[in-house]
Order: sequence, then structure tokens, then C-alpha cells
Amino acid sequence: MTTLLIQNAAAILTGLAGEAARHPGPDIRIVEGRIAAIGRLTAQAGERVLDATDCVIYPAWVNTHHHLFQALLKGEPQGINATLTPWLAATPYRFRAGFDAGSFRLAARIGLIELALSGCATVADHNYLYYPGQDYDSSAILFEEAEKLGLRFVLCRGGATLTRQLEAELPQALRPESMHAYMTDMERLARQFHDPAPDAMRRVVMAPTTPPYSMRPEELREAAALARRLGLRLHSHLSETVGYQDSTQAMHGLSPVRFCESIGWLGDDVWFAHLVKLDADEIALLGQTRTGIAHCPQSNGRLGSGIAPVRALEAAGVPISIGVDGAASNEAADMISETHAAWLMQRAKGGEAALAQYRGGLGEQGADWASVEDVVRWGTAGGAAVLGLPDIGSLQLGQAADIAIYDLSRNPRYFGLHDVAIAPVACGGSAHLRSLLVGGREIVREGAIPDLDMVELAAQARVATRALIARAEAA
Ligand SMILES: [Zn+2]
Repeated sequence: MTTLLIQNAAAILTGLAGEAARHPGPDIRIVEGRIAAIGRLTAQAGERVLDATDCVIYPAWVNTHHHLFQALLKGEPQGINATLTPWLAATPYRFRAGFDAGSFRLAARIGLIELALSGCATVADHNYLYYPGQDYDSSAILFEEAEKLGLRFVLCRGGATLTRQLEAELPQALRPESMHAYMTDMERLARQFHDPAPDAMRRVVMAPTTPPYSMRPEELREAAALARRLGLRLHSHLSETVGYQDSTQAMHGLSPVRFCESIGWLGDDVWFAHLVKLDADEIALLGQTRTGIAHCPQSNGRLGSGIAPVRALEAAGVPISIGVDGAASNEAADMISETHAAWLMQRAKGGEAALAQYRGGLGEQGADWASVEDVVRWGTAGGAAVLGLPDIGSLQLGQAADIAIYDLSRNPRYFGLHDVAIAPVACGGSAHLRSLLVGGREIVREGAIPDLDMVELAAQARVATRALIARAEAA
């Protein structure tokens, strides 16, 4: 029997709500990859002990929206100051034809490593690099790279049967798939990779890239029906900008959420990235149907999209989770940066809504729109709920031991804190990860991934990025 005792933590946040958000610990026992005890515990004979003095313990993060291939498209000059639609044309669409099996694999590896080093154990990637005649299997590469690192991986299989006309002069790699080819591949992926277990290492999700643009309404209905028959969840982008509202009105005569209602794309098995621009009626409908959100504050800030109304969504009953989104629109695609941004930006949104009393308002507000405990809950248990993985995401007895242990003893940023529990999120930056456990297995130790040569990885990234630029310029 494998047992591990994590001893003497300075603070523990559990990912749960209310009083249960903190546990006094200070020790956690893990037996056969699951949490067996939390409290004041004594080491048993032969038990491995991990000393967590000066460390803060969180559930490992659950990232619910990403595009890993974009790890080689950071800070791209033509897109750096653009809003969503021109950025899509300038960066992800202009470069996607330049990816081959090698550069795609390298990008996935870099993105997953960045996440692991922030304390993230579960990654849902919205991959849309699929086209007719593609000579590499991007789905298989993603699962392989996650497995090599020991991370849980949820493939949100994107793609389209219509083009967005952002790619007029670009080649084969931008051509849409046929509905038959897309759905046949979904059935293959479900057979090959999908595990319905509550603590699965591999999941598959139906995820056409953007409902109003990617498929015809009857195809979206058919895709939802197939997913539900196969036991797969549904995911996509929605309502990221006012442009979504304008184009969905123009194309379908409905608001984006009402359009999703009309095609059977709302429910507790559906979650959408962004949901920045919403009418009150849409917020209520998302709440009634328990449709979830992957909140991506850094990407929404970087692209000038806005700040999602997370507080109103949660009050309406919407399950909240956090996603880093692709690194082409978020040059800090790790869960510490993302949750730090979520914490600040919800409060800023509250402050933006404040109105002076002499003008009929209530005066100052906003500082309680998101606590660190809220943000940790969204980024852990919230993510697990949205992905349908009930055995991960919180620190309680019986849960899979997906645990991030941050060491606060090495960085002056963490000195002088009156409440160390909030430090990894509230202080931001890059907390030193003493250990990341996934199902009790140590994936990161002392801030490093064992046997990974980071200097070599950096050199590979430089070469691959130069090659992508050359291919885009030659196209
Ligand atoms: Zn996205």
C-alpha cells in the first residue's frame, strides 16, 4: 500500500464554499492516490513524509479552456494590439497552416509544462486544428503529451463545417471538414480515448469552434444529439465580444444564448468559454439550464473584449470555472496568473459599476465581488464540476489526490503576510511549486519536472517559432 503524509502545512484551501473553504490541517494523508485523512496526523512506520512547513496547499487547478497549439504564437506583432476578429485573422488563422506534427507537439508540450508548473493537474484543450487531408493526428499528439507529463487531459474536439472567411487566401489547412468526416472522427475519438470514470485521465468533448459560425443549425443539433448518445459533454466559445452579438443577430435573428437554446446547446452538460457580453435574459437562461462558463479574464483583457459578469452568473446559478485560453491571446497561460487576474478584474468590474450616492447610487463597491476563496473554488472544484469529474477538484476525504503545494519561504513577495492562505492567488507572479501531485503521483518536485531540460526546450521553441514565421511569410 502506497501512503504519503504531507505534514505541517501553513494553510490549506479546499476548493469548497463557505466555512469549508479552509481546513486547519495541518497534515494530509494520501493512500493509493486518494485523500485518506486531513488533520493532525502522525507518520506511520515506513510512510513517506513530505515536509510542507511554510507551504500553502490548494487543490490542483483545473483549466477548462485552452488552445495548446498557440504556445508558439505568443506576442505576435500583427495581432498584439488587435481586437478578437482582426486578431484571429492576424495570428491563429494566419499561422495554423504552418504547423506540422513536430511543431504542434512542441507547442502542446510547452503549454502543458507551463500549466503543470503553476499547479494545474487537469487541462481541457479546445483543439481546432483539423482539416481534410491533414497528415498528423493532432488529437493523439495531445493525449500523448499529457500522458507523458502525467496530467489529466480533456480533448474538446473543435472544428467546423463552414469557414469564417478569415482565411480567404490561405491553403488546405484552413478548409472545413465535411459533417460526415467530423462526426465519424468524434465516434473514433470517443471509442479510443473517452473514459467516463469520475476521476478519468482522458475525456473527449464535442466542441465545434464557435456555434453561430462553425456549423449550420441543423448540424449543431445533430452534433449535440451524437455527443449525448456517446455520453460526451459539449463545449465551445460564446459571446466573447459585441461582434458576436451583432453577427448572431444578423445571421440567426437571435442573441447568442437564445441561438444556443434553439439548437439544443444549453444544459448542465455544456460549458462555454468567455460569456463576456450577455443580456439579463441570457444570464437568467444560462442559470436556469445550469450551463457553465470557462471564465478567461486575461485573454478577455488582452483582446479588449471586456470582463465577464461572473458574479451575476454565479448568482443566477451558472457553474463557474476558469480557463487560460490560448497563449496567442494570453502571454501568461498559467493558472496562477489567470486566477490572480480573475480576482482583480471581478473587483474592478464591481468598482466600474459603482455610482456616487448623490447621483442615486450606493457609493463604493466591488471589493467583495470575488474573494480568493471564491477564485480558488472556481479554478478547482468549479472546473471539476464543469468537466463532470466529481472525484477531483477539492481537498476532502476520498477525493483523488490532485494537490498543489506552494513554498512561500523563498520569495520576498510572500514575506510579511498576515494571511498566507491567500498568497498564491493574491500575490500573483509565480509561486514556487514545492510539489504537484496528480492522483498522488508527484509530477513536479521543487519547481521542476524531473528529467526535463528547460534550456533545450527553449532552444527548440526558438527554432520552431522562426520556422512558423518563415512559413507564414512564404504563404
Ligand atoms: Zn478560446
